[in-house]
Amino acid sequence: MIKKKAGLEIIDIKPRGYCKGVVQALRIVKQTRDENPEAEISILGKIVHNRYITEALNYYRIKTIDIPGLTREELLDYVDYGILILSAHGTGKKIVEMAEAKGLTVIDAVCNDVVSTHGIIDQAFTQGKQVVFIGKHNHPETEAVLQNYPLANLITQESDVNSLNLDSDQDILITNQTTLSIIEIQNIIRTILIKYPHAEVNNEICGATRVRQEAIINQTSLDALVVVGDPNSNNTAMLAQIGLENNIKYVVRIESIEDLVLDDFKAGWRVGITSGASTPTYLTDMVSHYLKNVDLEKPYEKPIIDLSKII
Ligand code: SF4
Repeated sequence: MIKKKAGLEIIDIKPRGYCKGVVQALRIVKQTRDENPEAEISILGKIVHNRYITEALNYYRIKTIDIPGLTREELLDYVDYGILILSAHGTGKKIVEMAEAKGLTVIDAVCNDVVSTHGIIDQAFTQGKQVVFIGKHNHPETEAVLQNYPLANLITQESDVNSLNLDSDQDILITNQTTLSIIEIQNIIRTILIKYPHAEVNNEICGATRVRQEAIINQTSLDALVVVGDPNSNNTAMLAQIGLENNIKYVVRIESIEDLVLDDFKAGWRVGITSGASTPTYLTDMVSHYLKNVDLEKPYEKPIIDLSKII
């Protein structure tokens, strides 16, 4: 056996990758195709945020209607017939009504954790409370919340709290998008509570997001962190952010092995590998296997991604 001269120590951070909401959404999509072999099937936006999954769905003749900058309502103009699947991030009720009015058969692949957040906001408004929602601009989960509850006050960062203008004599509920950073949200909530100490907090970061972030925080001696996931996946972005906040000196986000640049690594480094909740295990395992076996001085060729193995 030839010993590697310039290898890396690879730590497979667990848990990582697919969450229950993504597994459920992909099961719904495949089942819909199995039960409707000849139907035109479209997905409004990406079913989950991963380009490779979108490409793999083409094998099943399932179209993803996703044009950057367009809202779900605008995307609906591009679907005229057949079955419409709604994504795991949740979709506004108005969109469902519009789709049904067009004669589309609507199948909702929303994650139960997102449904639960909508229920909490719904109840708060019913009880006459003011609602503060912490989320990301242009993220489909936040878009759906604001469409269903236009009176919710959106906060995207700590500095937004300055412009919050709530009635201090009325009850306030603070809640949030499910995939935010468990560290960043604490800072934002603390700032809101300084301004409105009587506000009630219902932190809705989902279990999958939380445990994947905590798994990084629990790593104490990594030289580098590789986060595999789509550039548009918020929970993937948050894993990288958590790595930086934990002083890991080199944190890199890659979509797949194709983006891996070996020049950035130094021999002997301890490198953690994690991935977003919407990243196929196949893509993450490919990166992990390659880095475990590579000699940085004589790297071997990267493997080719086989789309038929993505879902
Ligand atoms: S990240 Fe959380 S909220 Fe989003 S689909 Fe997965 S389990 Fe559901």
